[in-house]
Amino acid sequence: MARIGLVAHDDRKDELCRWAETHKAQLALHELWGTGTTGARVTAETGLAVTLLKSGPLGGDQQLGAMICEGRLDVLVFFIDPLSAQPHDVDVKALTRLATLYDIMLANNKSTADAVLAAI
Ligand code: PGA
Repeated sequence: MARIGLVAHDDRKDELCRWAETHKAQLALHELWGTGTTGARVTAETGLAVTLLKSGPLGGDQQLGAMICEGRLDVLVFFIDPLSAQPHDVDVKALTRLATLYDIMLANNKSTADAVLAAI
């Protein structure tokens, strides 16, 4: 059982929900955490249980970062929008920096998320 964080920027939320639906049976075996809006959408669209943190721009990204540095998250699936600037870019950078620093599995797109899920 892995502890998996789920985050998607607005333009990538549809894709993350489709990915979660595709892998619903396997994801159900793991402990899922999500930033507020992303996690609520995944639950609404797939029925998967996701523990909700604050919305990303309101501190949810930082909550996931704290989980990483406390050793409480194994995988981060973070679908970043590569085409738009994010008002909370500092939080986005901090989260990806901590995932890198603590060497947890970090998937920023669907094909990597597929590979990570196949590996855990
Ligand atoms: P959200 O946050 O799931 O609450 O929209 C995602 C993000 O960090 O942009």
